[in-house]
Amino acid sequence: MSFSELGICPEILEAIEVLGFETPSPIQEAAIPPALDGADILGLSHTGSGKTLAFSIPALESIDPTLREVQVLCLAPTRELAVQICREVDKLAMFLDGVSAVPIYGGASFGPQLAALKRGVQFVVGTPGRVIDLMEQGELKADNISMLILDEADEMLDMGFQEDIDRVVALLPENRQTLLFSATMSAAIRKLVASVANEPQEIAIERPQLTVPTCEQVVYEVVFSSRIEVLSRLIEMGRMKRGLVFANTKRVVDDVVDGLLARGYAVDRLHGDMPQTLRERVMDSFRKGNLTVLVATDIAARGLDIDDVDTVVNFELPRDPEDYVHRIGRTARAGRKGRAVSFIGRRDFSLLARLERFVGVRMQREKVMTGVQVEEVRRESLVDEILETAATATELPEELNDIDLPAEQLLAAMFNLLVSKTSRELQPIPEDRPSKFSRSARPADDECAPVEKGNDWSSLQQSVTLFMNGGKLLGLRPKDIAGLFYNEGGAPKGSVGDIRLFLKHTLIEVSPEIAPQLIERLGTCNICGYEVNVREDKGRPQGGNAPYEREFRPRERERRGASYAGRGNSNFRRDREDRRDSRERGGKSERVFYDKFSRRPRRRD
Ligand code: AMP
Repeated sequence: MSFSELGICPEILEAIEVLGFETPSPIQEAAIPPALDGADILGLSHTGSGKTLAFSIPALESIDPTLREVQVLCLAPTRELAVQICREVDKLAMFLDGVSAVPIYGGASFGPQLAALKRGVQFVVGTPGRVIDLMEQGELKADNISMLILDEADEMLDMGFQEDIDRVVALLPENRQTLLFSATMSAAIRKLVASVANEPQEIAIERPQLTVPTCEQVVYEVVFSSRIEVLSRLIEMGRMKRGLVFANTKRVVDDVVDGLLARGYAVDRLHGDMPQTLRERVMDSFRKGNLTVLVATDIAARGLDIDDVDTVVNFELPRDPEDYVHRIGRTARAGRKGRAVSFIGRRDFSLLARLERFVGVRMQREKVMTGVQVEEVRRESLVDEILETAATATELPEELNDIDLPAEQLLAAMFNLLVSKTSRELQPIPEDRPSKFSRSARPADDECAPVEKGNDWSSLQQSVTLFMNGGKLLGLRPKDIAGLFYNEGGAPKGSVGDIRLFLKHTLIEVSPEIAPQLIERLGTCNICGYEVNVREDKGRPQGGNAPYEREFRPRERERRGASYAGRGNSNFRRDREDRRDSRERGGKSERVFYDKFSRRPRRRD
């Protein structure tokens, strides 16, 4: 089928020709004719299917160029997508005189967006929050909107735009046409469709398989500082005989290579700064099996064509889903099995969801293997290797002939020797603690939370203050510290009192009887990937560089009802003043409370 058979007007057909599109894609073929006839559409199709053209063509055709009012409103989840759609619309409209589109999104100044609306733009593509703002301000008028388009509706719902969409839709004329596109179908999308569209025609486009089923896709939640250790554990467990590790920048590639070299593994790097001859030498070495691991950036790995990579590791998730597909396509080739392991941090969940949506596969969540598990697997694989060798080793070596020891004892000695010679010492990481990352294993919040008694500074009847040399700057929260004290330190329930976070240190009140144990166990310990020390607080040193600094006191703020999120400027100023006035004296902090009405500080007894 050709574009000319779809009933498209000559001006747009001419633009399509100039743009070089020869035949319509399946979604264009299925959606354009009914949309041109005025039907509502529910299009289930992914990015890359050509859906932008599928809705832009009928939208442009619905516009009356003589009317300088907004006639088409397209909602998109992100600023980038809104801009991209506008670019395509402008290109398609190159021969349509007097028709133009404008992107409208939050985080940018209103000025240019308002100017475009005043100029009489007919096609608005915007993110829901900014669109509703402008509609409610009366700057974006809905009276002449005859078409609503919702692009990537599933992503908009995932991003929490449901309420904004509802508010926008409530302001639109009832007799409009609605085209809704989503990569996935869910109960939430069904509900949205029912509320915005009128008997829509459903068009589902099968997406080509982007990843092969023989490639197992696994995700580990790992803090950045633990990643080299986790990578080493994958190698130690024999799961990676020829692995390709991807990082997003040259610097991280270098760090990973240095980290693995320091642990004695055969590893090399590939990145854009290397001369071609050196790159070829490295690739050759990897191909010949001289390297266990090759660490690369996306661009540098392009020329790499090797069939038997058993594991691909995403040391960092790529920002572009296409890169993910390219990366993991290096394993499970030619019908072989392969594994793609992705390390993610706490901030990567939405990116992960986007990747999963793009490849259409839910990745398997696995827990990082603990040191003990690695050890077990290592010993098992040694036994396997011994058994394999035993098949051909039928004669006792001469050197052992005269040894007068029971065979069992000799065998045990040999095994122990083998274990010690082949083992690398594992380094402890926060993920080894069950409580740190597995939400299910994490103690209940009330177990973790500091004990609170009235408004007294000290929440314990009697207490000792411990000092930890890490605080807000490390991103620590009272919960992390309580978790450390209860789980690693073995503190009994209720024995940890107030936790006061400062920028570079934390003061923790604990029951006197548990203090020695905590100091012993947590003297040097890991928290959120950082090594810290816990010791008895000696109070603020006199003179010199005092380790004490301004206090960050979220709990105090909460107690006085000042909301941290969404606070006004006055609250913010007040918090700053609170902190400035909260001075430490001789290791004890003195609290300053503010009079509710005068806002003047007053002492509290
Ligand atoms: P989309 O799914 O709308 O994000 O489109 C993905 C890409 O496909 C864009 O770069 C379009 O320019 C391109 N495209 C859209 N329709 C066609 C077509 N019929 N033939 C070739 N490329 C197309």
